[in-house]
Amino acid sequence: MESAREKDTNDEVYAIDLRQKILDETDPGVAETIVEELTIKKYICLACEAPVSPVAIRPNMKVRPHFRLKKKHQPGCYISGYDNLAKVGTKQQVSTPNGFPISYPSKLRLPTHRIVTSEKNLQNPIQKPTISKKQVTNSNSSEVSVKKHNLTTTKLEEIVKHFLLFPYDRHLKLTLPRVGLTTYQNAFQKLKFDSEASYETPLIYYAEFMYTGVKWTEEEIYFPLMQGLDVYNRNSQERFFLRIDTRHWEVSKRKLIQDKIEDCINEVKKTRYQQTSSKKSPYLFFLGQKSLTEKFQFRLLREDWRLFCCQAISGVDLRLR
Ligand SMILES: [Zn+2]
Repeated sequence: MESAREKDTNDEVYAIDLRQKILDETDPGVAETIVEELTIKKYICLACEAPVSPVAIRPNMKVRPHFRLKKKHQPGCYISGYDNLAKVGTKQQVSTPNGFPISYPSKLRLPTHRIVTSEKNLQNPIQKPTISKKQVTNSNSSEVSVKKHNLTTTKLEEIVKHFLLFPYDRHLKLTLPRVGLTTYQNAFQKLKFDSEASYETPLIYYAEFMYTGVKWTEEEIYFPLMQGLDVYNRNSQERFFLRIDTRHWEVSKRKLIQDKIEDCINEVKKTRYQQTSSKKSPYLFFLGQKSLTEKFQFRLLREDWRLFCCQAISGVDLRLR
């Protein structure tokens, strides 16, 4: 997992930020002390108390920094239950008249800038389901009476993952900033070139992007989309695009996003010579709207790295409208 909670503070910590702390130190001796300090700290799963440890946080390691589980997730942890449920969820509806069987991301909260505070949980992006410890430890894992709790997240990626993994459960409720209460089905809209469509309402828009045309500068990321008047002309200006201002991002977050975009593109390239049904295309999902002044430009609701994500998707995976 790319992030975990620091046990003492309850803050979400990204493994890539730990590596960045070491990279920022120029004195090798001090850097080594930082590595030791970071390794000694106690980290736990984002949704339960299962201990995890940081891996590959030293610079020059080939593996991406991440957290590894040291013991199994605790019974009732939605992260472990979620992956198992998804195996069924991609094929059929899993919700019943009583609702969705486990917690799912039902609300996206706009991230706030970090405020130094001693109050626990304030900055925890995924709010833990409020299952009491007693309830969890007293239950057998097979018959845990986990109450259904909805989760609030600041990462659009979690919502997109849920949308893709549970295509038959898109009637589930979802609350988005500037949109309000809606459903998964209505929160997502595929971009099509339609001179009538204004796309001025904030929603989660998505479209295939032209991966050879993604551009990075010190200040922004530019995603040309495969929608517009003249999408097959690489140099055409008449295509939709998303421009993201990255000037205020931390260095480690720029790196994290760059890695994720590259992962997506590499996954697409790997399937290039496979059968049509397993071939993947690069898709961009973002919470935003069309610019009022620029005819083809889209922008995020806020210039935040958590409000968009890339996914390598095959036609079968997608089951999109
Ligand atoms: Zn867990």
